[in-house]
Order: sequence, then C-alpha cells, then structure tokens
Amino acid sequence: MRVLITGAAGFLGSHLCDRFLADGHDVVGLDNYVTGNAANLAHLSGNRAFSFIEHDISEPLAVDGPLEGVLHFASPASPVDYLELPIETLKVGAHGTLNSLEAARSNGARFFMASTSEVYGDPHEHPQRETYWGHVNPVGPRSVYDEAKRFAEAMTMAYHTHHGVDTRIVRIFNTYGPRMRPNDGRVVTNFIVQALTGAPITVYGDGTQTRSFCYVDDEVEGLYRLFMKGDANPTNIGNPVEYTVGQLAELVRELTGSDAPVEYRPLPTDDPKQRRPDITRAREMLGWEPKVHVREGLARTIEYFRGLAESGVFQSRPQRETITPA
Ligand code: UDP
Repeated sequence: MRVLITGAAGFLGSHLCDRFLADGHDVVGLDNYVTGNAANLAHLSGNRAFSFIEHDISEPLAVDGPLEGVLHFASPASPVDYLELPIETLKVGAHGTLNSLEAARSNGARFFMASTSEVYGDPHEHPQRETYWGHVNPVGPRSVYDEAKRFAEAMTMAYHTHHGVDTRIVRIFNTYGPRMRPNDGRVVTNFIVQALTGAPITVYGDGTQTRSFCYVDDEVEGLYRLFMKGDANPTNIGNPVEYTVGQLAELVRELTGSDAPVEYRPLPTDDPKQRRPDITRAREMLGWEPKVHVREGLARTIEYFRGLAESGVFQSRPQRETITPA
C-alpha cells in the first residue's frame, strides 16, 4: 500500500510511519512542524519507501501518485499546545479533516481519523465505552480540541455514509513514550523532566484525577490493526489500567530515583476528573490489548529523556504549564 500520514513528524505520526514502513508499505509523510519535530523523522532520510511533504493540511492539497490510505494525525494534541493554538487546532480538525477526506475520496483510499478520548469530555460514564456520547463544555477552553475532534468524527461518518468512503475512527487515550517533546506540557513529560532536573513535580489540583496511560508501541499496534481490519464505528485504543496523577508522580520519582518535592498547582478549567477506556471492542474485533506495563514503559521513556538531557535539550526549551486555573 501507499499511504499518506498527516502529522507525520509528531509523536504518534512518526511511530505510525515506522509501523507502516516495517510492514513493507510506502509512506508519504506530511507536516507543517507547528508542533511536529523533524528529528522524529531523521532516521528515515534515505529510505526510498518514505517521502515527505511540508504542508499545512488546513490548506487544500494534491498528492502526486496513487494512495490506498490516508491517516489524519495532524493536530496540536497537548492541552498546552491547543490552548496556545486555538484557531489552528479548530482549523486542522475542520479544514484539515475535510482536505484529508477529499484526498482519500479522490484516490478511492481508506480514511483513518485520529480522534481522542477528549470527545467524552469530563465523563459521567466510567470506564468510557464507545457508545457514550460524552460531556463536553462547547465553549470552555478545551472545546477547541474536543469540538474539533467531534466535528471531525461527524465529517468522517458523513463521508462514509454519503460518499461510501471506507473509514475508521480511533479514540486515542493518553499515550506516552520516546519522541514526545520534553516541553509539550503533558503530565508524563513534565514529571519526567522535573524529576531528572530536580525541579518540583507539579501536580495540578489534589492529584486525585485519573488517567490511563498507554505505551506508544502498544498504541501504534492497535492503530495499525484498526486500519487494516477494523470497521467504520469509533474504536477506543488505550490502556485500561488507571492511575491517579498523584500515583503517577510517585512512580516517576521512584523510577528516576529522584527526591524532587511535589508542588501543588491549580487544576486547569474543565480538567476531566477520570478517564479509562473500555477496550472490549478492540479486544474482540482486533485481538488487541496493551502488553507493556506502565513501569516498563515509563522506564523506557525515562531512558529516552536521559539521552535528551545529555544533549542539552532541556535547557534550550523551558517547560510549560497549562495556564487556565479554575
Ligand atoms: N497534570 C499535572 N501536572 C502537570 C501536567 C498535567 O498534574 O505538570 C495533570 C492534568 O491536570 C491532568 C492530567 O495531569 O489532570 C493529564 O494531563 P495532560 O496534559 O497530560 O493530558 P490530558 O489527559 O489532560 O489531555
């Protein structure tokens, strides 16, 4: 197959490129580097199965040659990023999705939409099944991401039912691993960088809110299987093992051997109180479930960040915080 992956220089996009290439497919990567990082694709230079287009997918695009798949992964995805880039985030969820869908339709290609657990908002159902419609504040600060992705899901489904495009929608839950940006502001990266530099570990709120963290290799395997053998209905892909943010802070301190103190900060507006995927659908349809325990996944991620620390990256890119106190 020859597939187009938007957001190819991002954390998930770059791992997904590797996954397709490993199975012998040709990949056209696309990114405008707004939150992507060229270093994530550096190892592919010289690989004849890989080509790259620098382009903002919110603008129309014509790709030379046939495509059998289009996977739309371009979007700011960390809360700090999408709060800083609200209009760009809405545009890439709306125009970017439309342009990607058109690329799929005009080529007769399969379309794959990277959606998010954020479509469930601050959920009243726990764990979250795909049948849950969500609890999203349509005008809150997070709405620029949540509503963009909800719109993208609706648009994908409309292309499926109205134009007969073969489509997939994945709802991705919190994922971590090598190639995350050390200053992307997410909880895993903030805690690891803080622990490695001896800075206080910044827990927002009282740390009792929960997330369920999936290691990137597991996540990408689930995405790949969903692309290959899933159906058009939304599918959760994430790790159902749930931690409080306070527990995650302790785990990172233990695994890094850090004695950095915990410092409590205000909880960002509309921060979901709990999140855990029900992955029954993925288990039954794809025979998929995560394999990497969070201790092992965090240890591998910490190793990656230790490598970055030695190259001086932390100093040149200061950490950022979610700046929307309740
Ligand atoms: N969080 C935290 N300290 C940080 C960054 C995040 O306590 O330095 C919390 C945040 O308030 C949320 C959880 O960790 O409850 C996950 O945040 P993240 O930004 O990683 O992603 P989200 O799941 O909210 O999209």
